[in-house]
Amino acid sequence: MKRRAFIKNTTLTSLSISFMKLNALGSLTDSLNKTDKMPLLFIGHGNPMNAILDNDFSRQWKKLGQQLEKPQAILVISAHWITNNSTKVTAMKSPKTIHDFGGFPDELFEQQYPAPGTPEMANSTIDLFQKGHIEQDFEWGLDHGTWSFLKPMYPKAEIPVYQLSLNYSKPASFHYQLGKQLSTLRERGVLIIGSGNIVHNLQTLKQGGPAYDWAKEFDTKITDYINDRDFKKVIDFQKLGSLARTAHPTYDHFLPLLHTLGAVDKLDDISYFNDSFDMGSISMRSLLIQKR
Ligand code: ZN
Repeated sequence: MKRRAFIKNTTLTSLSISFMKLNALGSLTDSLNKTDKMPLLFIGHGNPMNAILDNDFSRQWKKLGQQLEKPQAILVISAHWITNNSTKVTAMKSPKTIHDFGGFPDELFEQQYPAPGTPEMANSTIDLFQKGHIEQDFEWGLDHGTWSFLKPMYPKAEIPVYQLSLNYSKPASFHYQLGKQLSTLRERGVLIIGSGNIVHNLQTLKQGGPAYDWAKEFDTKITDYINDRDFKKVIDFQKLGSLARTAHPTYDHFLPLLHTLGAVDKLDDISYFNDSFDMGSISMRSLLIQKR
């Protein structure tokens, strides 16, 4: 489905998705040990070069990896894995490192992130949903929306990592509801990470200078909604009209924020890091969500 069709098909009136019933929570609970509730992240990943540059963004990722409780597995919903009419989860033992970009130095293409996959956790994630709702995938791997920040964060690549795709044919409310269902995994040692950018317009990038006013306005509005815990307004971001369309000519980098917000619990604290702009129209604002 073309991206324009996504906008057309997006109906934000209902937050309930009837076919996403929990039907196998019992089996997940049985097969995996319950843990303390893991934190939850939304990472603004931005420029792929952040993976190998020593800058404010990558230093913050490095610090985070050292500070957070070590997860048993990491699930990333990356802006860079778009599927249509299905939601997929990587279920291979050894996901390949995908260099899904062009025009960057050889050094970036030479990077590998050899973290193991976790077929067990992938299958447990599939079991959270009605049969056939999420499909196993053995073709994808780890795209740069995942490894670019995991490399500084967990350089040893010893923690199993798996990815969930963005079903681009679904409305914004679907992605939020999906995050809600995934939240159970936080109590099974899984660090859930939505990876995108709160403002992402590649057509207006500039070298140096302040962020555009419209970029700051969209970023501030979304942050205010989050601070007010008014997630419905974040889901309804398209109601911001031309401001939303300028901040996101396509929605792939915004949707992973909805997965993260869906997994937020009432008792969680929400804090921000890397809350600045890169190249005028990329908001690097990231969220760390932890239980109080
Ligand atoms: Zn990206």
